[in-house]
Amino acid sequence: MKTFDKISLGLFPTPLYKLENMSKELGTNVWIKRDDLCGVALGGNKVRKLEYLLADAKKQGYDLVMTTGQAQSNHAMLTAACARKVGLDCILVLKKRGVTARKGNLILNHLMGIEVRFVDTDSYDDIYAEMDRIGEQLHRRVYKIPCGGSNALGALGYVDCMEEIAQSGVHFDTVVCACGSGGTAAGVIYGAKKFLPDTRVVCSAVDSDPFDKIVYDIMNDINALLDEHTEIPMPELLNMVGAGYSIPSFEGNAAIELMLRREGIVLDTCYTGKAFAGLIRMAKEGQFKKDDNVLFIHTGGAGGLFAQDWESGNAR
Ligand SMILES: *Cc1c(COP(=O)(O)O)cnc(C)c1O
Repeated sequence: MKTFDKISLGLFPTPLYKLENMSKELGTNVWIKRDDLCGVALGGNKVRKLEYLLADAKKQGYDLVMTTGQAQSNHAMLTAACARKVGLDCILVLKKRGVTARKGNLILNHLMGIEVRFVDTDSYDDIYAEMDRIGEQLHRRVYKIPCGGSNALGALGYVDCMEEIAQSGVHFDTVVCACGSGGTAAGVIYGAKKFLPDTRVVCSAVDSDPFDKIVYDIMNDINALLDEHTEIPMPELLNMVGAGYSIPSFEGNAAIELMLRREGIVLDTCYTGKAFAGLIRMAKEGQFKKDDNVLFIHTGGAGGLFAQDWESGNAR
């Protein structure tokens, strides 16, 4: 098995513990892995991916990274924060989608002094071409990080996370996490195969992309990258997208309220609220036994929550 360099960016291992009130509420043992508490900016899953991606950028001698996402992208904000931390320049080329006003994560990008360029397109080919154009204008080489940091190298961060979870010694019957661009799901499912082979992984899809194929392909790429032959299962996905990506859903907001009221933990409207709503739905359907240990991976996202217009009733 090949190994890859990592730059230390976050505070790992992140806390893992049982949610007593939520367990009573849902009639099973609910645990949480707090990747929202990983210590960079507002925390979140992108930090584990960036430990690999920024190490690769540095190793290859780049001093400028660019990435993309929607206006409120947690991934973009965390890429900027992590790049700053290790002395890399960062330019964000964001889609003009979602809340483009200086709210939520865009406040943090502004305070970090990060240049944000908006592009009015949904085509990643166009976006990466724009990054190349900016690089040419600046006469600088650009290390391009894909949307969500979701390639095989980034996904290794979540293979590591599963090893970390296995080291807790707790047997988990089921692990639930959000799926937005697929890298986290790929790492979690691949890592479960290796380190928690008896654990079922369910990923709450918060976008309507064909994640069966996307996640499966990233797992195949992980095998190729590591020169391994881990058996790759078809991802088990739950459709939690509601009216659309980044549009708050009734079920997701109910999950946000429940988590905050019972446990004092902040979820977000775009990813973790909908992802945890998937866990609640499964509990209500009787998919967990009373003695099961069910683990929710909290992937962060607080910044986006504060970009929502709660007063107008758009969020709920
Ligand atoms: C990006 C993100 C996800 C989804 O992870 P992917 O690897 O893109 O599927 C989940 N939660 C939060 C808070 C995120 O920012």
